Amino acid sequence: MDVDFYDYEEDAPCPRCMGDGTIICHCGGDLCVCANYGDAPCPVCHGEGSVSEEREAAFLKAEAEAAKWSQKFWASLSKHTQKGGDA
Ligand SMILES: [Zn+2]
Ligand SMILES: [Zn+2]
Repeated sequence: MDVDFYDYEEDAPCPRCMGDGTIICHCGGDLCVCANYGDAPCPVCHGEGSVSEEREAAFLKAEAEAAKWSQKFWASLSKHTQKGGDA
């Protein structure tokens, strides 16, 4: 009876490109020099716009981990700045 739900779960919308299959290229779009005209194929779903639940979970986990590390980085950086401020 939960067949519909299972079908839906198989492919989740890509969390990187929100299902578009493309992302904004590293040039930022406006002055694109990579011949992608501002768009680059999504590295997570490879242009498909959807990913398996496993892949989505792995991506979100990696992203959360990265956010954690950058938070730590900025926290330690501001600590150092405050300490060094008087000297
Ligand atoms: Zn570009
Ligand atoms: Zn994608």
